[in-house]
Amino acid sequence: MFTLKKSVALVVGLVALLGIIPFVAKAVRTDVSRDFPVYNNHGKPDLTVDPKRFVNQMEIIDRLFDASSCEIAEGSVGGTGYRRLLRFDTVLINGGDGDLVVGSPTDPNNPYHSVFIYSPCHMHYHIIGFSNYQLLNLDRTIAAQGHKQAFCLEDLLKYTNDNKSSGYVCAFQGITTGWADWYFKQLSGQWIDITGVPEGDYIVHVEINAAHTFDEGANRYSNVIETTIHIPDPRNKVTIDNSPAATD
Ligand SMILES: [Zn+2]
Repeated sequence: MFTLKKSVALVVGLVALLGIIPFVAKAVRTDVSRDFPVYNNHGKPDLTVDPKRFVNQMEIIDRLFDASSCEIAEGSVGGTGYRRLLRFDTVLINGGDGDLVVGSPTDPNNPYHSVFIYSPCHMHYHIIGFSNYQLLNLDRTIAAQGHKQAFCLEDLLKYTNDNKSSGYVCAFQGITTGWADWYFKQLSGQWIDITGVPEGDYIVHVEINAAHTFDEGANRYSNVIETTIHIPDPRNKVTIDNSPAATD
């Protein structure tokens, strides 16, 4: 049997024998997902969206909303009945060398107290106007207004190899340096309502920290992400998503 102890001893032995320190290749990937370079932003956060996940999770589905749907109240769909939704993942990476600290939504002494709003769809507090989701024509005029998706910011994914989460959650919000929050496509509002949009090529436009609520220092990483998409004829059938609403 090849035990862990033996294998460690073997590696140590080999290192001693060859007189070298094992070299672990670390690829720097600008296309992400994972292993994201954090830079010296003088202790400030710098938020950006994982471009890979944004593009590869994108899909068009139909989903039913009735008058009692929280999405009607929140304005993330344009009406009741079946709506055609272009949905995607928004992973918010903090690539600056400082944590984004937002704090408790219910603490009246929190300097960000006024930017929180309670979301009936998500059942927790969000930051007002955090992101802006739009569908643009190729000439950059607006094809579908989309909406301002609000977020509860917390640590969900680790994007560097070496640092621990400071433990941000919806009740005390923030994103640790080198970590990311993840709003996946099944979450309420992670979409642009494209009902009635004619067949053609469009630009999907997402801006984060859209209201400039948070200081991002040098802000070297872009707050805007875009990709082009072909939207099929609205009469064509797409997958109907009848699954229960996902919570985060
Ligand atoms: Zn939420």
